[in-house]
Amino acid sequence: MTAKIIDGNLLSKELRSHVAERAAVLTSKGQQPGLAVILVGDSPASQVYVRNKIKACEDVGIHSVFEKYDAKLTEAELLARVEALNHDPRIHGILVQLPLPPHIDSFKVIEAIAAEKDVDGFHVNNAGLLMTGQPLFRPCTPYGVMKMLESINYPVRGAHAVVVGASNIVGKPQAMLLLQAGATVTICNSKTRDLGHHTRDADILVVATGKRNIVTGDMVKPGAVVIDVGMNRDDAGKLCGDVDYGPCAEVAGWITPVPGGVGPMTITMLLVNTIEAAERH
Ligand code: NAP
Repeated sequence: MTAKIIDGNLLSKELRSHVAERAAVLTSKGQQPGLAVILVGDSPASQVYVRNKIKACEDVGIHSVFEKYDAKLTEAELLARVEALNHDPRIHGILVQLPLPPHIDSFKVIEAIAAEKDVDGFHVNNAGLLMTGQPLFRPCTPYGVMKMLESINYPVRGAHAVVVGASNIVGKPQAMLLLQAGATVTICNSKTRDLGHHTRDADILVVATGKRNIVTGDMVKPGAVVIDVGMNRDDAGKLCGDVDYGPCAEVAGWITPVPGGVGPMTITMLLVNTIEAAERH
């Protein structure tokens, strides 16, 4: 079997054109949607992510404000900026790029963002709403994965979904969204005994560990959907995922590539969340 590819760039293009239409409607009413992005420090990876997010906003007609601060910015100064943006009527979404420098408590900063502007969906109120089945914002990466499954009309209801990775920003919300869509969900973490035992039983396998080649071809059920969230560098410095792509694509029914899979979808769903915030406003 050779897997069909779920093309995150193609799907993103389609979804972003709907976002642009919705942004135009709001703008015509004098309510252009706005996103503020805060970056502290000069991590090259974070700078690339932030640049891509700002560019994506521009492309769909979302007003964006980019605030870049030196790594020495104090926690109190950052909290004051978040507070000011909470009260800025032109801003509907606030994103603080993670990770923050070690002297700043990320949890405290995320909790300072007004929950109705928390377009990343990381605020504890939003995590709670998601957990109880009434999400305000769905975290962008797992939301994008759900859109990918929807794009292939995958029957999630009743399927066995295995999520490898249990972080607050990917694995846990992913498991919750799959559960709410009717899947039977297994969540694996670094302590899981015999990972392959679980992955081989997955109809839907979502991998988000940051560990290159953690899933090999013999760990995939024939015909399964394999979604690779990971972003790593191979020995040649090229971007790659968590899944050993070639051998897994021989066994899977569907697979997402890296790059060109979940990555662009994450940014797309940030735009969707910003539009939803602006429409609610
Ligand atoms: P994270 O916070 O480091 O969490 C990693 C998770 O993987 C943890 O739950 C960890 O288990 C689990 N894990 C580690 N080794 C494992 C193993 N051998 N077997 C099973 N589980 C294992 O990472 P994250 O923020 O969720 O990100 C994961 C990956 O996704 C990274 O490569 C990141 O760059 C990428 N990512 C991509 C996007 C995108 O848009 N494409 C967005 C976000 C993240 P424990 O809980 O036991 O530690």
